[in-house]
Amino acid sequence: MVKLAVAGAKGRMGSLIANLALQESDFKLVGVTEKPDSEFIGSEFSRGVKFYSSLREFEERPDVLIDFTTPNATLKNIEDAKTLGVSLVIGTTGFSEEEKRIIEEASKVIPIVFSPNMSLGVNILFKIVGEVTRALKDKGYDVEIFEIHHRFKKDAPSGTAVRLAEIVAENLGKNLEDVAVYGRKGLVGERKPDEIGILSSRMGDVVGDHTVFFGTLGERLELTHRATSRETFARGALIAAKWVFDKKPGLYTMFDVLEI
Ligand code: NAP
Repeated sequence: MVKLAVAGAKGRMGSLIANLALQESDFKLVGVTEKPDSEFIGSEFSRGVKFYSSLREFEERPDVLIDFTTPNATLKNIEDAKTLGVSLVIGTTGFSEEEKRIIEEASKVIPIVFSPNMSLGVNILFKIVGEVTRALKDKGYDVEIFEIHHRFKKDAPSGTAVRLAEIVAENLGKNLEDVAVYGRKGLVGERKPDEIGILSSRMGDVVGDHTVFFGTLGERLELTHRATSRETFARGALIAAKWVFDKKPGLYTMFDVLEI
């Protein structure tokens, strides 16, 4: 049985993950966290499981912490997880390059599954986009990435769109920041062949749509994933937690977890 902690358990993802974990016999939920100034600290989440302000306060040490919060909160959790020897599943998005390097450093001490999208379908999309990019390289195809999310999402573009763009850039042998174009406005001139366009929309309750377009003169190929429920990410996070808890220190992705 995996002793589990869930960060940000009042959030959309945290509450779903913690509630699903309570229904699974493979997990013992030993505590959940919220912001240190939250009114919920010390109160009960459900079935005797308490809200804590940090991992250091837990009465029982968890094996794994699942973290879907904010970059700042995740970085604090990483420090505590390193000190306590707790494995991590990080679903939070919006990290800077410098912050991603901190996660990489921490993975020398504890095992970390880090993925901007925990759904099986999106991870298959990651694979396919790499293959299609290689097949169409130097054949005159423009690559553009569109994403739509709900009105409450804080970061843009989505972590999944950024990862898709990184995969395209890696497979074209380019550095993403040299070729990324985040939206367009005004007299921007003709599209450069190397550009990777990344465009974000925010509306209503959209759980997460991503399309990668490969367009040339006379045709375009569109690869689309649509998430219709957050449960797909939550179940992926729980699968990752079960997988990571007895692994050696290292930085893992859902490719490792799902063996794809
Ligand atoms: P959300 O509803 O805003 O939830 C985040 C929660 O974390 C909130 O309850 C927030 O509290 C709490 N929090 C903030 N600082 C904290 C701290 N220091 N300690 C503990 N809790 C803290 O957001 P969400 O929709 O669940 O998304 C969370 C993150 O997961 C985002 O980065 C999102 O992009 C990402 N995400 C990833 C995947 C994936 O598959 N990898 C899927 C969906 C979402 P307050 O509201 O009081 O600030």
